[in-house]
Amino acid sequence: MRYATALCVLVFAAACGGGSEKATTAPANQPAPAPQIPLANLPKIEPAAILDRIKVLASDEYEGRAPGTKGEELTVQYLENELKKLGLKPGNTDGTFIQKVPLVGITAAPAKPLTITKDGSKQVIKWRDEMVAWTKHVADSASIEDSDLIFAGYGVEAPEFNWDDFKGVDVKGKTIIVLVNDPAVPDPSDPQKLDPKTFGGDAMTYYGRWTYKFEEGARKGAAGILVVHETGPAGYPFSVVQGNLSEKFDLVTPDKNMGRAAIEGWVTLDAARKILKMAGQDFDALKKQAATRDFKPVPLGLKASLAIRNTLRTIDSRNVVAKLEGSDPDHKDEFIVYSAHWDHFGIGAPVKGDKIYNGAADNASGVSTVLEIARAFTQVKPAPRRSILFLLVTAEEQGLLGSQYYSVTPIYPLEKTLANINLDGLNQWGRTSDLVLVGLGASELDDYVKAAAAEQNRTIKPDAEPEKGFYYRSDHFNFAKQGVPALDPDTGTEFVGKPPTYGKQKRDEYTNNDYHAPSDEVKPDWDLTGAADDADLFFAVGYRVANADKFPEWRPGNEFKAKRDGMLKK
Ligand SMILES: [Zn+2]
Repeated sequence: MRYATALCVLVFAAACGGGSEKATTAPANQPAPAPQIPLANLPKIEPAAILDRIKVLASDEYEGRAPGTKGEELTVQYLENELKKLGLKPGNTDGTFIQKVPLVGITAAPAKPLTITKDGSKQVIKWRDEMVAWTKHVADSASIEDSDLIFAGYGVEAPEFNWDDFKGVDVKGKTIIVLVNDPAVPDPSDPQKLDPKTFGGDAMTYYGRWTYKFEEGARKGAAGILVVHETGPAGYPFSVVQGNLSEKFDLVTPDKNMGRAAIEGWVTLDAARKILKMAGQDFDALKKQAATRDFKPVPLGLKASLAIRNTLRTIDSRNVVAKLEGSDPDHKDEFIVYSAHWDHFGIGAPVKGDKIYNGAADNASGVSTVLEIARAFTQVKPAPRRSILFLLVTAEEQGLLGSQYYSVTPIYPLEKTLANINLDGLNQWGRTSDLVLVGLGASELDDYVKAAAAEQNRTIKPDAEPEKGFYYRSDHFNFAKQGVPALDPDTGTEFVGKPPTYGKQKRDEYTNNDYHAPSDEVKPDWDLTGAADDADLFFAVGYRVANADKFPEWRPGNEFKAKRDGMLKK
């Protein structure tokens, strides 16, 4: 019955939920609406097929799939073979299934400590205890020397919230001190709470993430960027920040990351207080000012110097990429991208005698599901109007690097990429009557998800902990950041035929025992029927976006909307 799909298109198009009355009013660059097949008539995802491929990828033979190891060789070969067997085309325009991803491992050590001076007096801020810093420059060393220090509030420029901490002040070559998290703007009707209309209230926006602070500082041309660490707002202690002093991987960009600030780092709250005091300023007073739109950068009259020495190691890793060509000659150069990271931690410290970090749930399950969705796409005739890209990325566990590489060096233009659907960690515990969508409310893609879920008699729920900023922590985020609407599905929480506490219990078990541990392996009690339901849903979503009469958009107020609108105007 699976093959009823083609019949549906050819014979019963109107009854299949289509309708062509809008055809004449569609803009010239948009296809007319396609007949949309009901989810029940689309090819079905097979739970057993998902499990079979997970078993291969998560086997000990694949050694935990670390980038740059034998595990990568086996994984990349396997994925390429599977994609070829499905009859898909090479995803790269050079005729291969590979996008090379150059990675560099950087270990920073201090060559000269952070020294703050003011008219002859000086203060040394202790490396590791009071501050940590690194450079993303792919170079043996980096430094700032007598660089003017400026307090730049939260270091945010957010047009959609009419917010600009820089106010045109030139910070080129200077060193900025910025606060972590979103600007803490009080709710005018209840000052004890955060204003839900500005920076999402309690929910974190990307402007709150520390990665944003370094990116924005670099865009403004700062030579040094120091984020003030506060345990509460950051959500983790300074010891986590100190972890940056071990080897960190990054992409080798064409400019060898020279577009980044020379120095990126954190200072403890106490160190920040000391530095500001030296300038005759008070941290708490400045922080209060920084939570207002009127805030202007404060030149501190101090100079900062610091030098770093790097140890470098390069690795050539790979994204695996395949394409299903769209059936509409006018629109086959437009894409929907499915992604999942193939990498995991490889061989590491043994736990209970096991040293292979198999990564069965994280993320053999996502990769295997994308392959199953790819198979389903090959069975829909005719193919959707737009093309579908299946992108299996490397180095997610090292900081979303494979997807970042694709997003800044895309094979197909991002202004012609309608959506990204990323799968990371599928449900292993059976059917659910709901589905959690992290970042629910961000874009019109939600409408597709809700419609498909309704056809499965399921409901969509938002992420229960939006203040933790989960939306910014998986591969889809790199697409979002570049303006492409992106979906970040999580598993459902209400398991069919199970007590209400079952979902939380299973999830806690996974988090406490198996997450990023050698025991993330295929378990005898795995039930992938729920994962297959989710895959059916996201297959339908991608298929429908690929046939839609318009590009999905970010909702007003979303932090990525301005970028997307600018990109589509060109
Ligand atoms: Zn992981």
